[in-house]
Amino acid sequence: MPAARRPATSETGDPLLFTPGPLTTSRAVKQAMVHDWGSRDATFIAINRMVMERIAEMAGGSGTHVTVPMQGSGTFAVEAMITTFVPRDGKLLLLVNGAYGQRAARIARIAGRAVALHETAEDTPIDVARLDAALAADAAISHVFAVHCETTSGILNPIAEIAAVVARHGRRLLIDAMSSFGALAIDARRIRFDALAASSNKCLEGVPGLGFVVCHREALAACAGNATTLVLDLHDQAQAFDKTGQYRFTPPIHVIVALGTAIEEHAAEGGVAGRGARYRENCRVLVEGMRALGFRTLLPDALQAPIIVTFHMPRDPAFAFQTFYDRLKDRGYVIYPGKLTVADSFRMGCIGRLDAGHMRGAVAAVGEILAEMGVGTGAPALAAE
Ligand SMILES: *Cc1c(COP(=O)(O)O)cnc(C)c1O
Repeated sequence: MPAARRPATSETGDPLLFTPGPLTTSRAVKQAMVHDWGSRDATFIAINRMVMERIAEMAGGSGTHVTVPMQGSGTFAVEAMITTFVPRDGKLLLLVNGAYGQRAARIARIAGRAVALHETAEDTPIDVARLDAALAADAAISHVFAVHCETTSGILNPIAEIAAVVARHGRRLLIDAMSSFGALAIDARRIRFDALAASSNKCLEGVPGLGFVVCHREALAACAGNATTLVLDLHDQAQAFDKTGQYRFTPPIHVIVALGTAIEEHAAEGGVAGRGARYRENCRVLVEGMRALGFRTLLPDALQAPIIVTFHMPRDPAFAFQTFYDRLKDRGYVIYPGKLTVADSFRMGCIGRLDAGHMRGAVAAVGEILAEMGVGTGAPALAAE
């Protein structure tokens, strides 16, 4: 028997998460949580205020925008954004090229909002010319919803071009920047939006439990009475902060305090530019290494966001995904099954407390496992390009 291999681990001895969130966090972020605070604790209130201000700043929205937190996962923030900003008699055009766009459409329909869909395939960015035509053709559309990085495939949508077209038509833009916020810049001074939703547990490298929406102040002020639920009413949540400095309902205090530490680490790394640079290097090392093993990415490099990479399944009949997944897990690397309808695939994330060394480790493990399975190449069953 060969000597037992020590699996790769995070700073706290856990398997490394090559997933789009929850993801691997630092020891300091987790350690920030080993205290108890009341929700009226002055230390907590100060941390919460700092977190909300820094998030608005990160979005280029200091002075013009306010961050409204929303307890729950990212979807809670997306639902809060749509149901607070789109009036009951409004109409939402959703730009869809993956599961998160579809989910937003479901949210809008359940809330009884009029909906129009502009769909492209999961490996195809939103078509800005078609958006332009759709807005020209339908004056009832009051709001447009776009996903910055569609995590389903890892594709980067042309958010600046989308925002420019929406602004030119005098409509309002809602952005799901869940998987990009903190790593890929969106500057409210150049990209006009009414609201942008993200969460604690993706590129900010906090723990899960808090969503937030960066809201244009004037647009939010006009949203009184729009909400169709009490808990997801961002206008009401913001008013409570203005009046009392408090959350309306129990806040995920530990999550917020950990996010405070995560934001300090983000700043120490050089903010959005620094975090983005590490992720781009992670993505480059991962893609190069996997290609050297024969794997093919779903997306061409020009469309690939440095967040999560979709790989086609290898065609070799000796390849069995569950075995591959389990053996990677045994070696300390947790990957992510595919979520695509266009291709049989799996995904590997580039985000979280991971660096190029971790990516090389994962690629080396993939190579070993292919050899163990008797798979000669990761190449998929595709027609030659
Ligand atoms: C992660 C994610 C969400 C929210 O997912 P939750 O599981 O609710 O946190 C929404 N949109 C995108 C693009 C995402 O990547």
